[in-house]
Amino acid sequence: MTAKIIDGKQVAADMRAELKAEVEKLKAKGVVPGLAVVLVGDDPASKSYVTAKEKACEEIGIYSDDNRLPTETTQQQLMTLVDKLNKDSKIHGILVQLPLPKQIDESKVLLAIDPNKDVDGFHPVNVGKMVVGEKTFLPCTPHGIVQLLLRSNVKLEGAEVVIVGRSNIVGKPLANMLIQKSPTGNATITVCHTRTKNIAEHVKRADVIIAAAGRPNTITADMVKDGAVVIDVGVNRVEDATKKKGYRLVGDVDFDAVSEKASLITPVPGGVGPMTITMLLYNTVESAKRTVG
Ligand code: NAP
Repeated sequence: MTAKIIDGKQVAADMRAELKAEVEKLKAKGVVPGLAVVLVGDDPASKSYVTAKEKACEEIGIYSDDNRLPTETTQQQLMTLVDKLNKDSKIHGILVQLPLPKQIDESKVLLAIDPNKDVDGFHPVNVGKMVVGEKTFLPCTPHGIVQLLLRSNVKLEGAEVVIVGRSNIVGKPLANMLIQKSPTGNATITVCHTRTKNIAEHVKRADVIIAAAGRPNTITADMVKDGAVVIDVGVNRVEDATKKKGYRLVGDVDFDAVSEKASLITPVPGGVGPMTITMLLYNTVESAKRTVG
C-alpha cells in the first residue's frame, strides 16, 4: 500500500476561506474580530511565529494588535498589559507567545488571561471544560489534528488511536478530545511516553498513530499496521549540508518507509503545522461570534 498524503496546507486553506467568510458576516454586524499578540524579548523563533500569526490574521480580515515588549519586561508590566487587553472590547483573543523570559512566571500570566479570550486554550478553566466535554476554546495543535482527521474522512468511532507523547500542548489534550462521547471522538486511546514499556507493541495495534515525541524516527515501518493512518506532529532539525541553512526539517515518522504501509499520512512540513495557526484564527472568530450572540 502506498499512502495518500493528507495535505495540511490545502485543509488549512479551505478552513481559512471558510473563516474569511465568517469574518465578513461579523463585520456586516459591526464586529471586527481582534487578536492581541504579545511577544516579550527577541527570540528569533518566537518572532517568526508571531509574525506568521499576525500575517494570517490580516489575510482573513482579523484585526491584529501587535504588542512587543523588551526582554527586561517585569512580571508586573506584563500583568498590566494583560489586564488592559482583558478589558479592551476590540480584542476577542489574547495570545502570549511562550517561552517568556526567566524573570516572568508563565503560569501566573496564563492564569491572568480572561478565559473568554484564551484562544490558545491553555487556561485551566478551559482545560477543565475540555475534559468534561463542554464547549470551549480547544488548544490549537490537537484541535487542528482532529480537523485533519475529520476532513480526511477518517472514522474515529471505535478506532484504536495510539498517541506517542504526553505533553500538555499536544498529547494530553488530543487524548481528551478523541475520547469524548461525540462524533469527533468515540475512539479508544493509548498514550505512550518515555516510560512506556514496548512502545512498538502498542503502536502496532493502532488504526490511527499520532507521533508527537519530538524525535526523528520514533515511528518506523515495522511498528505500523497495514492501512493505518499516520499523523506526524514532530518538527525536528536534522543536519543537511545540501541545504542553504545547513539543516532540514523532519517529523517523528520514517516517512518514506511508513508511507509504504499506511493508508494516509501527513508530511513534515505541510501536514499538522499549517493547521495550528488556522485553529488560532478559528478560536478568535468563535470568540468574536460569542459577542453577537
Ligand atoms: P514535549 O513537550 O517535548 O513532549 C514530548 C513528549 O514525547 C513527552 O511526553 C515525552 O515523554 C515523549 N517522548 C519523547 N521521546 C520519546 C520516545 N522516544 N518514546 C516515547 N515517547 C517519547 O514536546 P511537544 O511540545 O509535545 O512537541 C512534540 C513535537 O511536536 C515537537 O517536535 C514539536 O516541535 C512538535 N510540535 C509541532 C507543532 C506544530 O504546529 N506543527 C505544535 C506543537 C509541537 P515524557 O513525558 O516521558 O518525557
